[in-house]
Amino acid sequence: MTLGTSWAIDWTRACAAVIAEHRVELITLDRDIGDGDHGENMDRGFSAVVGKLDDLASDATPSDVLKLVATTLISTVGGASGPLFGTAFLKASVAIGSEPQLDSAAVVALLRAARDGIVLRGKAETGDKTMIDAWTPAVDAAADAQAAGEDEAAVLAAAATAAERGAEATEPLIARKGRASYLGERAIGHRDPGAQSTALLLRAAASVAAGNGEAHSSDANTSGTES
Ligand code: ADP
Ligand code: MG
Repeated sequence: MTLGTSWAIDWTRACAAVIAEHRVELITLDRDIGDGDHGENMDRGFSAVVGKLDDLASDATPSDVLKLVATTLISTVGGASGPLFGTAFLKASVAIGSEPQLDSAAVVALLRAARDGIVLRGKAETGDKTMIDAWTPAVDAAADAQAAGEDEAAVLAAAATAAERGAEATEPLIARKGRASYLGERAIGHRDPGAQSTALLLRAAASVAAGNGEAHSSDANTSGTES
């Protein structure tokens, strides 16, 4: 089994659905240690992406889908997270090239390029209490799963579980990047909103790959026929 354009499209839809569902939770997390707009920012961005999916060409590759996500997030999401997630999806789209189907190695390359793009842009290190604290364990777990011979869905599931643990592990940290860094010790005890949204996006990727995500369809590009 490999992951094609319909996986990328369904993942995008699943991201929009899960972010909409967790909008208030992300707002609350960002209200605790930031300015309270993270849920709003992400919801606006992914809703805009869904509105553009029908513009994809019928022969669009997974890379084309990720590029559409990237450009839309960059142009519609304000704050720190728009350019950071936008860069992540852009670098991921470049990393997977024009391959119509992604194998487990390509999935690891996608995740690694996304993480590296965020680091390049935001300069956060592990333990700075940012989305990187979800992305880096996710990349490491994905690479381990791939090296152990796991398939794409299992690689994504490993990434999602590691991202969820990474997000939770931001709670005791002091922030060294972003708005939360102004709070010093007052950030302790609060989960980083960007790490939480990262975990949601990666769980969505895994769920769709496993066949139980939002709007799963057959492995042909159905962008022209879906409403
Ligand atoms: P803003 O902070 O501008 O209001 P958001 O609330 O949408 O933007 O996003 C905040 C999230 O962005 C944080 O929870 C954190 O995960 C992430 N973030 C902020 N700065 C950085 C950075 N330099 N590197 C990586 N992630 C960052
Ligand atoms: Mg904010």
